[in-house]
Amino acid sequence: MLADDELLRYSRQILLPQIDIQGQLRLKAARALIVGLGGLGSPVALYLAAAGVGELHLADFDQVDLSNLQRQVLHDMSALGQAKVESAAARLGALAPALRLTLHRRALEGHALAAAVAAVDLVLDCSDNFATREAVNAACVAARVPLVSGAAIRLEGQVSVFDPRRADSPCYHCLYGQGGEDALTCSEAGVAGPLVGLVGSLQALEALKLLAGFGDPLVGRLLLVDAFASRFRELKVRRDPACPVCGPHAQ
Ligand SMILES: [Zn+2]
Repeated sequence: MLADDELLRYSRQILLPQIDIQGQLRLKAARALIVGLGGLGSPVALYLAAAGVGELHLADFDQVDLSNLQRQVLHDMSALGQAKVESAAARLGALAPALRLTLHRRALEGHALAAAVAAVDLVLDCSDNFATREAVNAACVAARVPLVSGAAIRLEGQVSVFDPRRADSPCYHCLYGQGGEDALTCSEAGVAGPLVGLVGSLQALEALKLLAGFGDPLVGRLLLVDAFASRFRELKVRRDPACPVCGPHAQ
């Protein structure tokens, strides 16, 4: 059931026949884990909270720094030095008081990561390093939880969805193998603020589609954003039958 204030708050998306009341109820019942509350996690958390996702689990070990504010729009001057999960909880609570929050104020690893992933319906990887991405992917494959993955550096971004519930879906490791990604981070190479906003918004949109149950998700496809030339490209990504993470010989 949706209360009158919920019908009003979400009216513009309930108007979409693809969402409707049923989709809104599915969002209300949904739980999503956001790993990383930086440039990608900011729009992801704001849009999922605004859209009425019932429960968000937030993970970040870092504190808000002045150099974050160029792109991490979830945080502001009043949060400098505060844990990002605390800053995020305050902002999201002010936006959506009914939102249920679980905060992980540390880097999730091992059993804690496995438990955090198993406790949700969907994971959004908004982290900024390869080791975390690999660990989150392995936990999602093990728990059969879909993963919406985004990355941005300099003027280049990418988004994809890995859904272990589908037999045809690749996983993150099928795509990147052993560290195929640029080892640089944004603190070394730089990144444009609106680009992480764009990639994070695409991740939020994919998450809403999966949670409400509409549209064609980016499964088996890698969407590449070239912000310098203002171009989008798409690559097919196939499942690797010999993948050590999602293949039949996975450890
Ligand atoms: Zn794989």
